[in-house]
Amino acid sequence: MLKNRTAVITGGSRGIGKAIALRMAESGADIAIIYAGNEKAAAEVCEMAENFGVIARAYQCDVSSFGQSKAVCECIYSDFGGTDILVNNAGITKDGLILRMGEDDFDRVIGVNLKGAFNMTRHLSRYIMKSGSGRIINISSVSGIMGNPGQANYSAAKAGLIGLTKTTAKELAPRGVTCNAIAPGFIDTDMTAGLLQDILDNVGTLIPLKRMGRADEVASLAAFLATDSASYITGEVIRVDGGMCI
Ligand code: NDP
Repeated sequence: MLKNRTAVITGGSRGIGKAIALRMAESGADIAIIYAGNEKAAAEVCEMAENFGVIARAYQCDVSSFGQSKAVCECIYSDFGGTDILVNNAGITKDGLILRMGEDDFDRVIGVNLKGAFNMTRHLSRYIMKSGSGRIINISSVSGIMGNPGQANYSAAKAGLIGLTKTTAKELAPRGVTCNAIAPGFIDTDMTAGLLQDILDNVGTLIPLKRMGRADEVASLAAFLATDSASYITGEVIRVDGGMCI
């Protein structure tokens, strides 16, 4: 379904990004994953992706840096000769109540989660526009829809990502590129590992489906949005949250 396409997935070394990279590789896409520092995990994902018979490479880059993002996008273009799909998935949390949140923690979360997506879109969209079936998928969060105490920085970044998604969708539509956001709820990954007990205690009341989600359940939607079957869907925000946000 994604044969002869190249997909760039930020934060592809772990969690949701890893699941998306592997699902897209399984569908036949060549894969470029971007990671922050976890070289070993990134190399393992490439090895697993290559088992599907595709080309997979890993690139270290801090997506919050405009310059590093530009350099890595040029490098990916030169290695793969084009890009069809961009998944802006890299994200971090630095939680704290507004009254106590430091400036650095606010700036860093906005820098990685929101500016990082802008940087990658800014530098890759010129190549994606040439694809004919370009796709940009931004991983937002239910925190960006509902707000969440202790996550002023994160929910602002994720809400900002929804605005970025809608603007990107409008700007790139004339070039046949769609842009959509996925808003996951609680997904079982390293990011939520610290919160696990708290959430588990409240899963029954918070989430109608009464369980946390799995990374592959987010990856299924990302992979669908990347296919030709999703060619008339753009500017959407789709929740994968077990009904948490109904
Ligand atoms: P993980 O913490 O499991 O993985 C984060 C990934 O992002 C890693 O691959 C990491 O690379 C990469 N990364 C972190 N900082 C940077 C950076 N500055 N530049 C490049 N890459 C970076 O997170 P999840 O898989 O849980 O989350 C993925 C996305 O989904 C995030 O945007 C998150 O906000 C969003 N999300 C997650 C939810 C959840 O419940 N888990 C819910 C809603 C949204 P490395 O391995 O090198 O550190």
